[in-house]
Amino acid sequence: MDPITQLTEIFSHFPGIGPRQAKRFVFYLLGQNDSANKKIADLILELKKDIHSCVRCMRFFTDNKKGALCGICSDEGRDKTKLLVVAKDVDLDNIERSRSYEGLYFVLGGLVPVLDKNPEERIRQFELKREIERNQELKEIIVALSATVEGDNTADYLRQIFSPITAARGIKISVLGRGLSTGTELEYSDMDTIKNALKHRE
Ligand SMILES: [Zn+2]
Repeated sequence: MDPITQLTEIFSHFPGIGPRQAKRFVFYLLGQNDSANKKIADLILELKKDIHSCVRCMRFFTDNKKGALCGICSDEGRDKTKLLVVAKDVDLDNIERSRSYEGLYFVLGGLVPVLDKNPEERIRQFELKREIERNQELKEIIVALSATVEGDNTADYLRQIFSPITAARGIKISVLGRGLSTGTELEYSDMDTIKNALKHRE
């Protein structure tokens, strides 16, 4: 395969990118000079070097000390009674930018499709359980997943597997309000929508 076809193939696997957009990326790169393209290639190689997954919330963050906590988890000012569960890092960034939430987070790493046989392989449910057990101040788990069939199914699944712990400790499980319309991806929601959805959680 020639480089154009190979790169198109690679870009088409990026989230939300189809073959036509992938090809546009390739032609964009063809129009750049060598130093600009080298910079991109170098950054991709460096990307995972200093970036680690936080041992508590599992989000990616830049740090030299492996195993350390991210800036949010190590911030003493955050409200430890709330834990907001999102599917992806980009959702967390989006909610953080809306400045309407001051509690802790957990990044699930995916969603559970309906009738999936191995949900525990799709999401970080064991890490989430560990986090719920570790945080004895926890009063509310806010499930902030996309308003899609998969998002709803994942929320139901979480409720089901964690109900013994939450019932025993009196922890409330809430979901984002319907400010997010059906089919909306959290990732593409604007700040006001996120603020409203958080305010109207139930
Ligand atoms: Zn963290």
